[in-house]
Order: sequence, then structure tokens, then C-alpha cells
Amino acid sequence: MKQKLISAAREVAKNAYCKYSNYHVGAALLADDGTIWLGCNVENSSFGATNCAERTALFSAIAAGKRKFSAIAVVGGTDAEPASPCGICRQVLSEFCSSEMPVYFAGLEGDTIHTTTLGELLPLAFSGANLE
Ligand SMILES: [Zn+2]
Repeated sequence: MKQKLISAAREVAKNAYCKYSNYHVGAALLADDGTIWLGCNVENSSFGATNCAERTALFSAIAAGKRKFSAIAVVGGTDAEPASPCGICRQVLSEFCSSEMPVYFAGLEGDTIHTTTLGELLPLAFSGANLE
């Protein structure tokens, strides 16, 4: 599944709207029902309005009614310097995904695939538990 998710993320990265940075990112999010949700970065002339690939994938899945996920792959950058999820995406993923969820990341090309977990990327995530 890891390679399938990376391949899907690499394919959708081609659709990135990144005219300002020319930094293509793709994400493939595996829901617990086996469906795969894709996202790419969507930049904006007002840079703060830009949306990352991971959140694009997650928000599409949420809009379709999905709530549980089992893995995500993110691709961007090079084999030597691959993109990993930014801080905002780590926090947003933590709303729906367990700290044990595998996170695969890799460059747009190359054979190296890094494997970590959401919890390793975002220890002590804010949960809002005291708000409930
Ligand atoms: Zn991000």
C-alpha cells in the first residue's frame, strides 16, 4: 500500500497549482474503508490563502463523509530533500488521525520513501480535549 499511495501522490502532484513557488506537492490519504483521497497544493496570490496537498486531500475526504484514516503519503521536493507535512497539516491531520498512523513521504522522483507516524511528527498535539 505504501508504494501505491506514493505513486498516487506523485500523479496528483502534477495537478498542483503552484505558479508562485513552482513547488509541486501531492498527497494520497487512505481512509479506513480502503478509498484513497487525493490532494495537491493550491497556491494563491494572497499567500496565506494557499492550501497544502495534505489538507486538500483530507478536506475532500471529510466532505465525502469519511472520518477515519489509516495512512497518508506526501510527495514533494527531491529524493535528497523530500517534503514532509508542514505544522498546520500535522495539526489538522491530528484532528482525525491517530498518533500511530503511518506517514510516508518522498520526493517527486526517486526510490527513497521515509516512514514515520503522525505522533512522531507532532508530539503532544493540541487536542482541545479540555474544550469538550
Ligand atoms: Zn501543510
